[in-house]
Amino acid sequence: MKTTTNIAVLTATLALSFTAFAQVDGVIHAGKVLVKPEQGALREQTLVLEDGKVAAIHDGYRSLNTLGLADVPVYDLKNHYVMPGMIDMHVHVTFERDKDANPHNWLTKEDADYALHSIPYLKRTLDAGFTSVRDLGSNYKVIFPLKRAVEAQTIVGPRIFAAGNAVTPTGGHADLHGYRHDVTQTVNYSLGVCDGANDCQRAVRDVIKHGADVIKITATGGVLSNTAAGVNQQLTDDELTAIVNAAHNLGRKVAAHAHGTGGINAALRAGVDSIEHGSYLDDESIKLFKEHDAYLVPTLLAGHTVSEEVLSNPNMPKAVADKVRQVAPKMEKAFRSALKNKVNIAFGTDSGVSRHGNNAYEARLMVKYGMTPKEVLVSATRTAAKLLGQEKYLGSLEVGKFADIIALEADPEKDIKALSKVAFVMKNGVVYKQQD
Ligand SMILES: [Zn+2]
Repeated sequence: MKTTTNIAVLTATLALSFTAFAQVDGVIHAGKVLVKPEQGALREQTLVLEDGKVAAIHDGYRSLNTLGLADVPVYDLKNHYVMPGMIDMHVHVTFERDKDANPHNWLTKEDADYALHSIPYLKRTLDAGFTSVRDLGSNYKVIFPLKRAVEAQTIVGPRIFAAGNAVTPTGGHADLHGYRHDVTQTVNYSLGVCDGANDCQRAVRDVIKHGADVIKITATGGVLSNTAAGVNQQLTDDELTAIVNAAHNLGRKVAAHAHGTGGINAALRAGVDSIEHGSYLDDESIKLFKEHDAYLVPTLLAGHTVSEEVLSNPNMPKAVADKVRQVAPKMEKAFRSALKNKVNIAFGTDSGVSRHGNNAYEARLMVKYGMTPKEVLVSATRTAAKLLGQEKYLGSLEVGKFADIIALEADPEKDIKALSKVAFVMKNGVVYKQQD
């Protein structure tokens, strides 16, 4: 009895002392550090991290003594380029495309199998310097438990902002294809499938009820769905408007998968917050992006990956291979046009189509297609944070932001390939990767 009381008193005292004194997570000595991504790196700075946030930034290397601290880890990153953790705005962390796998494998797996398989994907993503991801389309029964497990630090991974099941019309890109009618009826794949404005409003509310942080819609056909339905508009104008209104009323943004011009423009007119892929942009699309202050998430890496696969994989279904050959080559032109016209471009890879952990390869393609390395850095930090609606917390290392910090072996402003050499990863003040 006495012991219990003592523990209760002790717990109360500890709780008090934790609220009274901030916990210092560590001090970083950074040779170069990108505090405000738009401004380029500062040299020789000291960052003090407290309660999972950036508490102070000082010129020069300050010792613990000078800072009035003791028993706090000091991370020597004097030979590194330190920057905010990168944000990938389009991933699917619950699967990874494997051209050699039996395409019917998924019929044998339970949701728990998917969740367990995702654990190394999440770790690879964090190790690659991506401290936040937006998952745009994963079974809600898998992605939300994963998100909660990361938050509870049961498993290691980036911060997850997730859509769960995509909102799609019957037979649309995110519906189930390629099986007998009675099979597709039996498999419970219906969350998010809707037809008509009222039904799509219901679907949006339903996916939010099941945990969606953001609404993913398939405004047009898609490349990798096994249906020869093209990549034109699939959700009607009325459905799009109903979706956007329902989502915005509940404080969620809308990310629209869209390839064909008509579908891109209809989605923008309806007020979606981002266009994913955006393969066939025209002048009207550019005008609408600007008018609505919408974002393009280019996913060049997805186009690159499937373009290579179509050359070597004879088992790719014809319906899919035809669309790959048709759509993937358009992505470069669309990207260049968006860039030239100063459309907001947020970094996103569609990882899951490509290998998890290879996300930074997108940056090389962005540079190859005309972006400066500095613009890429902004796109993967500040711009992505804005589109996430997390600008107050993420996307820069200004005082008060979350201590989501990575360090690279070389300077990415000089050579963008440096983004693939991540030596140090901290998320929320906790170190997950540290190389000598
Ligand atoms: Zn995707």
